[in-house]
Order: sequence, then structure tokens, then C-alpha cells
Amino acid sequence: MSMPGTSTSLGLAAWRGLIGRCPRCGEGKLFAGYLKQVETCAVCGEDWGHIRADDGPAWLTILVVGHIVVGAVLSVEPYVDWPQWLSTTLWVSLALVLTLLGLPRAKGVFIAFIWHHKMPGSERNP
Ligand SMILES: [Zn+2]
Repeated sequence: MSMPGTSTSLGLAAWRGLIGRCPRCGEGKLFAGYLKQVETCAVCGEDWGHIRADDGPAWLTILVVGHIVVGAVLSVEPYVDWPQWLSTTLWVSLALVLTLLGLPRAKGVFIAFIWHHKMPGSERNP
């Protein structure tokens, strides 16, 4: 069964996942809790509960946050004269906040990728 309506591009689906919306319709919410996706989209009825993103989102978040924090440390530290406790507290807090903010977004993107890959009409499914 081929569905001509499933023309959502991967980029659009990933963007919708990034902002916590249903990658299929862009209307419904993708998450029921902080990192718990809804079972089915309340708007279009797409099933999300069965998609398992595993450790992917955590790795992606750590990678991105690591780059941002290391970049920030390298560009700020040479110009400031903070006490050690202050810079440690600051950078660790920044990393924590970015990780907490980033995790659900990374998970949304992974769900969008997995869904897009298995979508009827994509190249892998007969
Ligand atoms: Zn939807």
C-alpha cells in the first residue's frame, strides 16, 4: 500500500520533533511527559508509543552540549579572572541546563528520524 499523502520531508519531520510536535502532522504534542512520548497523536492518530529511541538522544545531547560548553569555556575563560569555584559552578550549571533542555529535543528528532525511515512510501518498506 503506497500512500501519496506521506510527503513529509525528513527535515520537516525532524524540525517538528525538535520543537516537540508530532512529526507527521505538526499539530499534536509529541510528549506526554518530560521524556515520555504520547502513545498516539491526539490530532492525526499516528502511533508513537512503540518507537524506541534508546540511547541515541543522550549521545546526541552530550555531543552537542559538550561542543557548546567547551567552545564557551575556550572563548570566555582567557578574558575573565573568575575564582575557580565560580567558573566550575558556572560551566557545570550551563552543561546541566543545556542537557536538560536538549534531551527531549534530541529525542523528538530521533523519533522523527526513526518514523521517517519506516514510513510507508519510504525506500526501505515494500
Ligand atoms: Zn499528529
